[in-house]
Amino acid sequence: MSNLKFNIQLSKSRISTVVRPKKFLGQHFLKDQNIASKIVEALVLPQELSPVVEIGPGTGVLTHFLTEKKNIELTLIEIDRESVAYLKEKFPTLTPRLVEGDFLELDLRKLIAGDFYIIGNFPYNISSQIFFKALEHRSQVKQIVCMLQKEVADRIAEKEGSKTYGILSVLLQAYYDIQYLFKVPPGVFHPPPKVMSAVIRLTRNNRITLGCDEVLFHKVVKQGFQNRRKTLRNALKPLNLSTSVSLLPIMEKRAEQLSVEQFISLTQLIEKGR
Ligand code: SAH
Repeated sequence: MSNLKFNIQLSKSRISTVVRPKKFLGQHFLKDQNIASKIVEALVLPQELSPVVEIGPGTGVLTHFLTEKKNIELTLIEIDRESVAYLKEKFPTLTPRLVEGDFLELDLRKLIAGDFYIIGNFPYNISSQIFFKALEHRSQVKQIVCMLQKEVADRIAEKEGSKTYGILSVLLQAYYDIQYLFKVPPGVFHPPPKVMSAVIRLTRNNRITLGCDEVLFHKVVKQGFQNRRKTLRNALKPLNLSTSVSLLPIMEKRAEQLSVEQFISLTQLIEKGR
């Protein structure tokens, strides 16, 4: 029944392509125009023309509001052929900026030369991977506004001392200020997901560099959380730390107890001890 309703809704706009929601692509289409508009408004853009990448536009509910904004140069990245065909009909002028492909596999540097902004109702099954890719491109990604599974949003915004504080929380908070904007219930999607959703904004902070070896920082964070119940002394053994570093009092702690700043100073201590 709900499927039928949705197709009718699409055909009202005289578009012949029908997009059947595909679970394996994490397709849950937002039906609520007000929420869509609020998500697009959450993007804070400068006056000058700014490149914006929308990940997974689907049937274009966010895209519609994005096209109404001035001073943005939009690129759409969508993996689903059916959605791509649909979007081409709905937004013919955007066709040259519509990339059919997997966001995780695309060479973003070839697509956009300088800084850019990311927006999207992310496919929940790959949201962590999207963030890791954004982190790789952190020198270019100025801001991300996205909807994702509430649980993941909570984890990203979480501070040290919590059980859900993890790799993504530390790495993203090191480079981005995170704002938890609002929650979204399952009923406003077609089909409704089994989980609550939330919208967050990540804005690149003013740290030009972390003041430590950043590759090592990533390794320390990842290794530390790999065995989150172990003390850092044990969890970081695979990194072959010097005895003097291993004996530091901070090594008695567990990864989930360290703030971002403490991870940075730990990395500096490890560098010095080498
Ligand atoms: N923005 C739409 C759709 C959200 S559902 C809306 O709000 O209604 C997630 C979308 O991401 C789907 O359109 C799905 O096809 C797309 N998608 C899934 N995996 C993707 C990937 N790896 N790269 C790009 N798009 C992807």
